[in-house]
Amino acid sequence: MIKRSIGAIAAMCGGTLANENHMNAEVMVCGVTTDSRRVTAGQLFIPLVGENFDGHEFGADVWDSGAAAILWQKDRPIAEALVDAPLILVDDTLAALQKLASSYRDELDLRVVGITGSNGKTTTKDMVASVLSGFFRVHKTAGNLNNHIGLPLTVLQLDESIDIVVLEMGMSGFGEIELLTMIAKPDIAIITNIGDAHMLQLGSREGIAAAKLEIAKGLRSGGLLLTNGDEPLLCKAVPELILDPSVQLQTFGLSEKNDWSAAHITVDVLSSTFDVVQDDRLSKVTLPVPGQHNVSNALAAVGAAKWFGVPDEQILEGLNSLQLTGMRIEPLRAYNGAMVLNDAYNANPTAVRAAVDLVAQLTGYRRRWLVLGDMRELGPREAVLHSEIGAYITPDKAEAVLTFGELSLNTAAAAKKQLKQDGAQEAPVKAFQDKNELIEYLRANLDPRDLVLVKGSRGMRMEEIVHDLQRV
Ligand code: ATP
Ligand code: MG
Repeated sequence: MIKRSIGAIAAMCGGTLANENHMNAEVMVCGVTTDSRRVTAGQLFIPLVGENFDGHEFGADVWDSGAAAILWQKDRPIAEALVDAPLILVDDTLAALQKLASSYRDELDLRVVGITGSNGKTTTKDMVASVLSGFFRVHKTAGNLNNHIGLPLTVLQLDESIDIVVLEMGMSGFGEIELLTMIAKPDIAIITNIGDAHMLQLGSREGIAAAKLEIAKGLRSGGLLLTNGDEPLLCKAVPELILDPSVQLQTFGLSEKNDWSAAHITVDVLSSTFDVVQDDRLSKVTLPVPGQHNVSNALAAVGAAKWFGVPDEQILEGLNSLQLTGMRIEPLRAYNGAMVLNDAYNANPTAVRAAVDLVAQLTGYRRRWLVLGDMRELGPREAVLHSEIGAYITPDKAEAVLTFGELSLNTAAAAKKQLKQDGAQEAPVKAFQDKNELIEYLRANLDPRDLVLVKGSRGMRMEEIVHDLQRV
């Protein structure tokens, strides 16, 4: 973690010391936090200002907890208890946090992998970290801390004990990835794919692609832009976008034309196997997670590892021993032994299609259930996008569909048309507005030989269904 004197921190974030006469600018600060409840002795506390909170209110408590210094926004009154405290005055504490992280990154002698994309960022981050960690000392974004606060805080956790950091970069509008990439200055920038998430803010898939491609702006000289070559929008405008001729472009994806592609893919409920195609040489990879989309994510990890010179055996080992962050197609057993795929972390049309494709490939089950919750933040086309998912569910892909939520009424209506068997009274599709009713229905009809995939937007809390199914 960052260790710098108070004076150095002030210079790095563009601040000034509030009461220089009373304080020693040479005092060392060790680590940073924005959470007043977690301040430990010697740390720098950065009070952020949100809609419903103002971290400055906790300044006195933090000082009592032994903070070495506190960033302080100039327009905030300084409490009596803090007049002698080592305050570093700044115009805006959030901007100062970002500036501090950016300056610190410049001082660090390590390499950075930045990952963005509509889907698969966290998964690819875990994969990249896994393939690199047999060979380098690696740090990665914890959980999903991928935004304008989480990313700078992650950077400030780094130090000389780390060789490579893998940073997830999330966004919901234009300019956000640019901000993150300018802080991180990646050596490798990965774009996993383009989906329909954040259509509301970005207007179109072209808009989404442009927002993701902002990641290239921060690439270091001699760096690598590694994009999903199966996505036309990520291939078209890219060469013009890379102004620095020393930056290389490589693509990954399932189709053969990519620099990193896969052959002989087989997928079962617990794993995927495939051969990485590289320079006509094939190597067999076993990935302990299912889904073709994960093969694509793994190819990005292979491309990154190769760029850093990781030997093949280490790459294979890293993919083999992969452990993903939870709720990303997590295979679990239901109370009666049925197989449950917990993909409840999030959902949007691209991710749901990927999940349906996975279920389509998993055969040998008596009945395959898709339990789908609403996909949120899709903008004015939300109803149509749900209908399209329903229409995508053809009889070869799943045998039954249960939906939860109002928007998913569209999914259910379209799925009914697809799954209605000739002569049958009803299609095996049911729409619920009450989660408990859905659970009751599923429990009453679930056979131990069945497979259930559960997916929906975060706000739908579809994992509650999974947890109930695990309850004996
Ligand atoms: P968030 O924006 O919420 O941080 P993320 O981009 O980090 O999401 P993950 O958490 O890795 O994405 O994966 C979320 C879901 O997206 C997975 O459960 C899976 O359904 C789907 N997914 C993962 N990778 C891909 C991909 N390459 N293409 C399509 N869908 C994918
Ligand atoms: Mg994520």
